[in-house]
Amino acid sequence: MKIARITVWQADLPLTKAYWLSGGRLKFEVLDATFVRLETDAGITGWGEGTPWGHTYLPAHGPGIRAGIETLAPVLIGLDPRKLNHAERAMDLSLPGHLYAKAPVDMACWDILGQACTMPIVDLLGGRYPDGTPIASSIATGTPEQMLGLVNEYRALGYRVHSVKIGADVSLDIERIRHLEANREPGERILYDVNRAWTRAEALQVMNAVADLGITVEQPCETLDDIAAIRPLTRCPISIDERLESLSDMARIAREGLAEVVNIKLNRVGGLTKARRIRDLALAHGIQCYVMATGGSVLADTEAAHLAQSIPTEMRLGTWSCQEMLARDVAPGVGVRNMDGELTVPETPGLGVAPDLNELGDPVAVYS
Ligand code: MG
Repeated sequence: MKIARITVWQADLPLTKAYWLSGGRLKFEVLDATFVRLETDAGITGWGEGTPWGHTYLPAHGPGIRAGIETLAPVLIGLDPRKLNHAERAMDLSLPGHLYAKAPVDMACWDILGQACTMPIVDLLGGRYPDGTPIASSIATGTPEQMLGLVNEYRALGYRVHSVKIGADVSLDIERIRHLEANREPGERILYDVNRAWTRAEALQVMNAVADLGITVEQPCETLDDIAAIRPLTRCPISIDERLESLSDMARIAREGLAEVVNIKLNRVGGLTKARRIRDLALAHGIQCYVMATGGSVLADTEAAHLAQSIPTEMRLGTWSCQEMLARDVAPGVGVRNMDGELTVPETPGLGVAPDLNELGDPVAVYS
């Protein structure tokens, strides 16, 4: 089986409401999505999506994905997409770095392999564990009352896990955490996500002020060195998100004991082929996992849900359903959808979802 044609679409995915992150430093209103279709000479077609969370959150942007695919296309045409490590190596040799541009291609290769084996991706990843994956809400930075209001909106949709965005103002952050913890309901989990906004000093001030609450703080500072520096000075459990980019980052986190939790973002680490190794290393060290897309439609959510459900229930903390924050749905009615606060992957072979071509319009590039 060989890749015969690659078709690329661009789509703007507007958010239903503007979103603020990292202490109000970063604002987001529309996501620039790229959809990729790989066609094979065997008649099997695979779909991938790459949707960065704007271009200020991570070193990734929509036009970069499309430029990356233009560079990769000549290397990919003629490759067997079922041989995932070969496709990965070919992409890494012809375009070092730029993991976010390769992720949608990798996703489409997994979709094809699943269809060729008539197995869903979750089973190719080692097998499905029972129960859907709890969806974490994404609570934008605001006043303590505004943030509790948003949590209540998500509670009404069945959510029991919340990723609350804080950072930048030490005393207000302590107030936000105490207010939300005082109003946390039984069985709920709240992750306090700083998105790198604190200095080392600010992180220690807040984390030590709320240490009695036993909360987990995600990505409190910019780098792994920062986290290694504050780690012995606080009792707060830590989750690492933005600075988990590679298997060697995961090895360092495990070896140095930098975190109890990691957040594996598929687009950031370069797709499922690399993410499954990170998953295995985390699990081997007793580190619990969130698995998420960096953003995007139901396709991106479905890919993350496949990897999430390949993780044993007690080690799997949650995923994300970005689709619920979007005003546009490119695959109406199909793929994973919120069912009482959980995403459960379908038994359909491969990814199990493809965009509606009428929703996507004309492609922006075709390579063959
Ligand atoms: Mg995060």
